[in-house]
Amino acid sequence: MPRFVFITGGVVSSLGKGLAAAALGSLLQLRGYKVRLRKLDPYLNVDPGTMSPYQHGEVFVTEDGAETDLDLGHYERFTGVPARASDSVSAGRIYWTVLTRERHGDFLGGTVQVVPHVTDTIKEVIQKDVADADIVLCEIGGTVGDIEGLPFLEAIRQLANELPRGEVAFLHVTLVPFIKSAGELKTKPTQHSVRELRAIGIQPDILLCRSELELTPEARRKIALQCSVRVDAVIPAYDAETIYEVPISYHAEGLDNRLIEALGLPAGPEPDLSAWYEIVNRVKRPEGVVKVAIVGKYTEHKDAYKSLNEALTHGGIANNVRVELDWIDADYFVAVDASDRLQGVNAILVPGGFGERGAEGKIAAVTYARTRGLPFFGICFGMQLACVEAARNLAGINGANSTEFGLAADPVVGLMTEWQREGDVERRAPTDDMGGTMRLGAYPCDLQEGSLVRRIYGTARVDERHRHRYEVNSDYKERLEAAGLRFSGMSPDGRLPEIVELPGHPWFVGVQFHPELRSQPMRPHPLFADFVRAARQQSMLV
Ligand code: GLN
Repeated sequence: MPRFVFITGGVVSSLGKGLAAAALGSLLQLRGYKVRLRKLDPYLNVDPGTMSPYQHGEVFVTEDGAETDLDLGHYERFTGVPARASDSVSAGRIYWTVLTRERHGDFLGGTVQVVPHVTDTIKEVIQKDVADADIVLCEIGGTVGDIEGLPFLEAIRQLANELPRGEVAFLHVTLVPFIKSAGELKTKPTQHSVRELRAIGIQPDILLCRSELELTPEARRKIALQCSVRVDAVIPAYDAETIYEVPISYHAEGLDNRLIEALGLPAGPEPDLSAWYEIVNRVKRPEGVVKVAIVGKYTEHKDAYKSLNEALTHGGIANNVRVELDWIDADYFVAVDASDRLQGVNAILVPGGFGERGAEGKIAAVTYARTRGLPFFGICFGMQLACVEAARNLAGINGANSTEFGLAADPVVGLMTEWQREGDVERRAPTDDMGGTMRLGAYPCDLQEGSLVRRIYGTARVDERHRHRYEVNSDYKERLEAAGLRFSGMSPDGRLPEIVELPGHPWFVGVQFHPELRSQPMRPHPLFADFVRAARQQSMLV
């Protein structure tokens, strides 16, 4: 059985618990431990797939096709361990499981209650599918004190009491605010949130204190005394210039050492952080800057495109440049000529999205990139709209559109009702449930010989992650090819267009999948690396 580390948050939300878990995961790996990271979320949606990115930020898709919390993206980027469906569980799913069992008659004769039935199910889920790990880092979403988080806290309290002593550690992430008028760091909110935890029966082993200013020895002593935590386990966590610096600063503050001690594990050799130093150095000291316009819908909510943001940073790391992002709301182009707004950008990216609003603006951005020879990257919705654009403006199919927006005279993008998954056929109907029914997770794609993407990937077949309901309609393939579009990536059965490109254009690629989900700072995704290279080349022309 692996050891468990439970990560809770106090005082306010958005303290970066997910990042803390991810950075700690990396440090433990560098000490030779096999880690697994997971997240429990207290909301009642069965998964975040049905939530708007405004509510919950990006939906991160795992290889095995689960729609999960965006923190799982941080976990993968920092540790390289592919997340699985079992690594993200919401209260909704827990209750669903309990209620399904109740209907099935599993508790026949009994009263079904939060304790023990819900808490038992939570404990089951926490311990499921972790046999291959030495240490499981399990983050509890929300803030201590929230009503809906209580069953989770109760479950981890019980678990710590049931597992052998010393095999469970509690890490609490908290805030130590600086109050200007008093000129002081305030430890009271931390004290209160730890008191709240202790009232439930959880004594944290380590406090990770987010603070804007240096945590003074006096503040540390005070927190240690009041919260019954050792002084050296009161660890400051300061804002970093880049998130990839976090493992370095946590290590310098002793976080991994304290955690190893709390779990009674041998410390082993000092972790080698040179790869993180190299990444940080490249992020902080680039040779140049390239400007990429992202024409999307949820542009004021940066978490909505978390992985995309990071993948572009990784592309910058691969090319020694800083990628400056210009977020543009697609609606802008409906009223304004794209050329005003896009002047001075080195490349354009149209990301994934849903719904009609903004679609025509995105199509205008595709036209701009295509006609001016500006590097263009279309992802999922962006690829579908690039095909609509090519159909209308290159192939003369005037009624081209996606049926996502209603009936189309020419359904160049249409609802996919049947496809293959590992030898089985998956079927969907327009009236099906919305939750969890898209084409989700990793699917293979064959790359056409001699194509740009084949050169970039350097291989004939790739696996990439999907999350979409609609698909480019292969009935239009021949007409689009005749008009100049190249279908350089297809599903192995030859039915589903996966990648399009435009020969003769400096860099024009649309992909039906989400390559950003696989990009990592240590292993930038080849498409992002080459897109940024093309943007850099473009920046040298002007
Ligand atoms: N809305 C499109 C679809 O469902 C694209 C989805 C996406 O970009 N992730 O197919």
